[in-house]
Amino acid sequence: MTVGAEFSPVVGIAVAVSGAAIGAVSARSIVAEADAHRWDRPDRWWGPECDRCDCELDWTLLRCTDGHRHRTANVVIAVVTAALFAGIPFAIPSPWLIPAYWWFAYFAVLLTVTDIDTKLIPNRILLPGTVGGVILLVAGGVIARDFEALLRAGVGGAAYLAVMLLLALIARGALGLGDVKLSFLLGVFTAYLGWGHLLVAGIGSFVLGGVISILLLVTRRASRKDFIPFGPFMTSAAILAVLFGDAIVTWYAG
Ligand SMILES: [Zn+2]
Repeated sequence: MTVGAEFSPVVGIAVAVSGAAIGAVSARSIVAEADAHRWDRPDRWWGPECDRCDCELDWTLLRCTDGHRHRTANVVIAVVTAALFAGIPFAIPSPWLIPAYWWFAYFAVLLTVTDIDTKLIPNRILLPGTVGGVILLVAGGVIARDFEALLRAGVGGAAYLAVMLLLALIARGALGLGDVKLSFLLGVFTAYLGWGHLLVAGIGSFVLGGVISILLLVTRRASRKDFIPFGPFMTSAAILAVLFGDAIVTWYAG
């Protein structure tokens, strides 16, 4: 049973609307920190600023107060984050897990953007994402008294980490150490929901990676010599697993 079924329509709408609002506000922080890494500046977790005049971006994230134009990707980040925060409460088994999975979504989006921009998964982002996420998930899981799910989350995170470490050792260069370290966070948050979710996240990252790499090559947006970072496929597949894991597993099994 999903938690969405337990919300009355009025509460459900309130949860979705406040989720979208909190997600949109969080996107300001994501843009600030992603830009800090893109421009190789010190961490900046709040108040996205302009690289040309150092004043803040307005609420659209497209212009600074001096009128300099900023990338359209900022709007995509805001819309995706708002949608994730609105949808996540309906995909998880207990409202106590909402803070943990919002935290997870925040860092999944931030790591995706940073990996696309810099081809790196910085420890400065991954460490607080993993530590904070585990703390919030354990707290939520204990309050919800779902110890089986917590155990599965721990085993799942370790299993995903072990498989990626093995693959990184075999396929030297294609997978970075950042991808390996990232797999623990993704494994924990998908395995908490079920083994099927973990499989969707793990296998899905290679399916997405294969399909999108071929598309990039065919459309000549990338050449064979280009390095295509793998992290964004891992984060995307994990997000899809969290939101639609039940449906994907049911579809695959039946
Ligand atoms: Zn400016």
